[in-house]
Amino acid sequence: MSASAPPLPVAEALRLVRETARECPLPARECELATALGCLLDEPVEADLDLPPFDKALVDGFAVRSADLAAGIREFDLVGEILAGRTFDLELLPGQTVAIMTGAPMPLGADAVVMVERAERTADRRVRLPGPLAAGRNRLPRATELRKGEVVARPGDRLTPARLGLLASVGRRSVRVRPRPKVAIVSTGDELVGIDQIPGPGQIRNSNSTALAALYQALGASTWESPVAPDDLDRLEAMLFAAIVGSTSDGRPADALVISGGVSAGNRDLVPAALERLGARRIFHQVSVKPGKPLWFGTVSRPGGDGTSLVFGLPGNPVSGLVCSLVFAAAGLEIVSGGTLVAPRVESREIAEAFEHDEIRNTYYPARLQPDGRVRALAWAGSSDLRTIADADGFLVLASGPNRFAAGDRADFLPIPGGFAPAMQSDFGVVPQ
Ligand code: AMP
Ligand code: MG
Repeated sequence: MSASAPPLPVAEALRLVRETARECPLPARECELATALGCLLDEPVEADLDLPPFDKALVDGFAVRSADLAAGIREFDLVGEILAGRTFDLELLPGQTVAIMTGAPMPLGADAVVMVERAERTADRRVRLPGPLAAGRNRLPRATELRKGEVVARPGDRLTPARLGLLASVGRRSVRVRPRPKVAIVSTGDELVGIDQIPGPGQIRNSNSTALAALYQALGASTWESPVAPDDLDRLEAMLFAAIVGSTSDGRPADALVISGGVSAGNRDLVPAALERLGARRIFHQVSVKPGKPLWFGTVSRPGGDGTSLVFGLPGNPVSGLVCSLVFAAAGLEIVSGGTLVAPRVESREIAEAFEHDEIRNTYYPARLQPDGRVRALAWAGSSDLRTIADADGFLVLASGPNRFAAGDRADFLPIPGGFAPAMQSDFGVVPQ
């Protein structure tokens, strides 16, 4: 397909992204728990011990034989104290009690704990305990939570904070996971200067590297940032190659090369030619979407025959890059990562204020979530208007042709992860289905 081929419908472009991504799965790898948050587990994990590993006290108090209380004994000999982390080797005899702390192992013979608040010290080493008390009260028997050899987590389980804690409790310092995908970001353009520079005539600051890196991180990817590449074919080619090589960590280059700028029809839009020189395979160039029409998508072989990476050549306009990333790149990375990264899902939301928009292409229109969960379209100045997007929680997904919404109508809404809108707080910045 040439750049002059008619732009693909969004659905067809998405289908091609997904189909291509299936050919580039990221291998599972061993990962320390400390860096595994949000990843999907790729192995079953068994308990290496019973939990709790012993019958344990659930409250601070006095361990007793419940039969003593049932038999009417109320005054007990206090024969010792068991602190958390300690054990008590003697068996409790009738009429005896032991002071015990929450979490400490129950002494042999004891089957219940009287709460400390209900006990009364009557003399040195004498305690008065009310009764009766059911056997097993305030005691958690060994292996109630899990039994040695039992599977406590399965492949595909999301590593949430609690699940990471569970894995730690069964002695796993690292586990095999489907890792986060890694994205290398290369901004291109002779007009770009660093964010700490004052732009000269015709220059602008490179805001895309910052925004894109944050977006991919919010989606659940790790990112690698290249210096800005100039609009010069040889240097662009060299810098794209350097990005593939330079992003290597854990023995793998980035799973996706995300390039900002240089994919439109201008004579300084050299990214497609540079990618061609690198032997990249073009799948499509141009999608019928606004913003974002000149999106270039394909794959590139990694040096040393080490598989292929996805390549997304994003239009340089800041909003176009974000929309194409959210809609297309996220969908591809979800597949590449086997589901560790979850692309945002379109939600059906009520419209807060009447809104009209006509456009010949599928349009992603910035909108803000209200506290009541309804969405309001924002006044928007187009694909370079990052200011409006900064106030947006997502985009209304509009069909080509006329769109007419009255307040209370429902519309499709694509949330932007990384904000703190209520819909996005669950599941680590990933929007639930
Ligand atoms: P391009 O796709 O290279 O033609 O870029 C389109 C427009 O996007 C440029 O005229 C710039 O105004 C803007 N742009 C390109 N790259 C960046 C960037 N890294 N950061 C901010 N704006 C950019
Ligand atoms: Mg450019």
